Amino acid sequence: MANDDAIIKVCDLINQGDLKGMAPYKDNEIVADCTDCEKPIRLSDCKIHAAAETKYFCPECGDILVVISCPHPSGKPWPGRGYRLGDLVLRNAVQLRLQRGNIELTIPVSSEALTSKHPDESE
Ligand SMILES: [Zn+2]
Repeated sequence: MANDDAIIKVCDLINQGDLKGMAPYKDNEIVADCTDCEKPIRLSDCKIHAAAETKYFCPECGDILVVISCPHPSGKPWPGRGYRLGDLVLRNAVQLRLQRGNIELTIPVSSEALTSKHPDESE
């Protein structure tokens, strides 16, 4: 089992964004709206597989909810791919919600999060 602290988590990416003075987020404050289960799944409850890409799986249906990866090597834009945060891309296949107290911030789904080919790549 890899050292948990060595894994780049979704919260680590979120915390690289503009938090407007708020304390850093943790994965247990981030909820993914699994489209298959039709219910919110706390990211801290997800199964995480960390390799070249870090993937979060729904603990109930096994769907990929979020992928953290490097940007595409071409450097070309990939509409709908996800959110570039620092050196990584947050690719959320489902809507994410950051929840803290009565503040909720929504991160809209990245429609191309799980697409395997860049739109500029030929068949
Ligand atoms: Zn699910």
